[in-house]
Amino acid sequence: MDLPKVADIVIIGAGISGLSVALPIAKAGLSVVVLDKGAPWSDASGANAGTLSIQVKRAEVLSLIHESIERWKRMPEDYGVEVGFGQPGGIRVATTEAERLQLEESVRIQKDNGIDVQMLDREEVQRLGPWLGPAVRAGSICPHDGYSSPLLVGNSMVTVARQLGVVIASDNCVTAIKRDKTSEIGRFSIKTDKGETIYASHVVNAAGAWAGEVATLLGAKLPMEVDVNMLTVTEPSSPLFDRVITHAGGILSLKQLPNGTCLIGGGWQGRGSVNSGTKDIDYERFLHNMRIAVDVIPKLSNLRITRTWAGFEAVAPDALPVMGQLGQHEHVWTLACARGGYSLAPALGVRLAQMILSSTDREAFPQFSPQRFVK
Ligand SMILES: Cc1cc2nc3c(=O)[nH]c(=O)nc-3n(C[C@H](O)[C@H](O)[C@H](O)COP(=O)(O)OP(=O)(O)OC[C@H]3O[C@@H](n4cnc5c(N)ncnc54)[C@H](O)[C@@H]3O)c2cc1C
Repeated sequence: MDLPKVADIVIIGAGISGLSVALPIAKAGLSVVVLDKGAPWSDASGANAGTLSIQVKRAEVLSLIHESIERWKRMPEDYGVEVGFGQPGGIRVATTEAERLQLEESVRIQKDNGIDVQMLDREEVQRLGPWLGPAVRAGSICPHDGYSSPLLVGNSMVTVARQLGVVIASDNCVTAIKRDKTSEIGRFSIKTDKGETIYASHVVNAAGAWAGEVATLLGAKLPMEVDVNMLTVTEPSSPLFDRVITHAGGILSLKQLPNGTCLIGGGWQGRGSVNSGTKDIDYERFLHNMRIAVDVIPKLSNLRITRTWAGFEAVAPDALPVMGQLGQHEHVWTLACARGGYSLAPALGVRLAQMILSSTDREAFPQFSPQRFVK
């Protein structure tokens, strides 16, 4: 593929973060090139569970997640694409007294932030979820929790981005970014390992687990932690349960998709690291994950598992999104490392696009600014 020599914006990373910024910017009429060291959507965005849950989010992101889920819902009309969105509502379960108290506190905070969420005692939770096991002693319910299909979303976003004129170039690892004060064609030159050089007015670091590495190319610091999350899918089955299930202890996420398969996750850690580039299953933790899933929905024990995999999830030390100007350079931006970054990306992408397009919005969201890590 012949890459353009010049673009208004070069985005590094063709996952949900990069493409969520690319779409509104391309819609506004600017030229966008997205570079990825592998195939688009081949890392965290392609490996994730697709859960869009409000209930599990921290207070700092509650208004954004609410907005983001609305954006997920509107994607078919906004961009004419199918994303497999479903909104059956979610039940967050507690299996111990300590978790029940934790859940009560979380529900109180969410209600204070205007979220539609209700606490359920044992009787109520068992009535709303007759498929729940006796281990579940309380829960909370939120009608806005849902899911989308990462497989559909990846294809859809890449297709619609290309229709809007975005150039998405695979197998181009960005290896150098230089500020060029004398150049008349762009403020930055971005070089890839394929020997390509593109000049651009803005650069966006959306490199997921590698966002820290890309930041160093710009002389900036982004302290990142990278988890190796595991996820499991079962064979298809007749309907077993009809809500998105999460856990007060953050140790389970569960849903049954329209094709009957059940997705079981919950942030259980696999083996490997981003430095070694390896990600693999830890069988002991995998078994713990399955035991908890079966305690919560006993009928899952009748199903066979078809696949378990692991993927990298980048997380900032405070687990909040990292969005805004990166380092001292104006016109260099980042969107990375949100815990639950898939669910939050549509809102974060639009907000970052607004910052790039309008000088007036640039101070918005100081709590997410990468500058918070600069001492
Ligand atoms: C197993 C698992 C389950 C998850 N489940 C959920 C969930 O249910 N709900 C939820 O909200 N979140 C979930 N997450 C988190 C979510 O997947 C991530 O937060 C989100 O996908 C991050 O998207 P991203 O675009 O920032 O990163 P990525 O999708 O990883 O994209 C970054 C891209 O940057 C590219 N890149 C890196 N370095 C360079 C370079 N130098 N040059 C060019 N390209 C480069 C990479 O190749 C990659 O394609 C889960 C994560 C995992 C791993």
